[in-house]
Amino acid sequence: MKTIYFDNNATTKLAEEVFAEMQPYFCQLYGNPSSMHTFGGQVGNKIHQARQQVAKLLSCDSSEIIFTSGGTESDNAAIKGTLAAVPNKHKIITTRVEHPAVLTVCREMENYGYTVVELPVDKKGRLDMEQLESEIDDNTALITIMYANNETGAIFPIGKIAELAAEKGVIFHTDAVQAVGKIELDLRESNIDLLSLSGHKLHGPKGIGVLYVKKGTRISPFISGGHQELNRRAGTENVPGIIGLGKACEMAAENIKQENEKVKKLRDKLETALLKKCPDTMLNGNRENRLPNTTNISFEYIEGEAILLMLDKFGICASSGSACTSGSLEPSHVLRAMGVPFTAAHGSIRFSLSRYNTEEEVDYTIEKMPPIVKKLRELSPFVTK
Ligand code: PLP
Repeated sequence: MKTIYFDNNATTKLAEEVFAEMQPYFCQLYGNPSSMHTFGGQVGNKIHQARQQVAKLLSCDSSEIIFTSGGTESDNAAIKGTLAAVPNKHKIITTRVEHPAVLTVCREMENYGYTVVELPVDKKGRLDMEQLESEIDDNTALITIMYANNETGAIFPIGKIAELAAEKGVIFHTDAVQAVGKIELDLRESNIDLLSLSGHKLHGPKGIGVLYVKKGTRISPFISGGHQELNRRAGTENVPGIIGLGKACEMAAENIKQENEKVKKLRDKLETALLKKCPDTMLNGNRENRLPNTTNISFEYIEGEAILLMLDKFGICASSGSACTSGSLEPSHVLRAMGVPFTAAHGSIRFSLSRYNTEEEVDYTIEKMPPIVKKLRELSPFVTK
């Protein structure tokens, strides 16, 4: 059975071109980039090239790129590294809809005496900028707000938030794990101080990421040891990962416009058809201002997990807005923060597309989904028969 992969916000297929670029750096060019000999030196040069490829995608300087082990490490490093560098301030401002890589770290900081403000969002997933401004005070060390939400695709006004933070003299970090490769960025023109990205969300390898650190930003080293990554993140580099990420960024920079157009067209076709053909459905989040590849739809009165299992029988991969924890199905914290009703949050499905999806795959899913929904509704205790 063919796999139809609509779960690209979870992870993406490694591009064949990326794999080809990485391959020599396992068994042939395995030198340590810090070594003095030519054998290691050529690996160092390739890392330098990868740093430039990433910097080109972000429109920043290559000296502002710190390689990490992924989005989670970058988020941890940004938060903990900032707080360590600004020891006299004890307040963090974030939102209720962040990824756990941010939210959990912020909440941990409460155990060390920090005040954490989790800003609410409205039913479309939008922030109240006035509320954000009113929360910033002299004790605020860091504002950390995601660029785009992984569940709904909602994009935050990061340019404006960064400008506000700069005006108030507060360090601003954005988790751009879902945005990089899907939104054109120009960090040279922005006030963003710190930005996280992850290789496996843009057809690069898993276990590699970046923390962008704007020149002059105060941040403490996050892993101590050797001199790698400008003394900020010690440890021998994940060479194939870095090279793969560089290539993935190069490909994203070259193709972002055409790919976005293609992916958005497919996403819109899928979304429009599902909302039309399946009764009692609703779109979660904002139709405008969202990632071109993401749609999050609630199918009222049925469980998302049941839909996923039935889609799986046809080889269709998507994800649901609830997580099965200790036997109870908890709706996602993002949908809860948006005030999505209980019955709708439980039946929410996220489809996230990529450059590798085709119109045939979309048509196939449009054909399979309505009978699945109908069948599950017939079994549902929430539907009066
Ligand atoms: N931040 C966001 C918004 C994400 O979607 C993810 C992954 O799902 C992460 C952070 C974590 O990234 P990684 O898997 O590279 O640790």
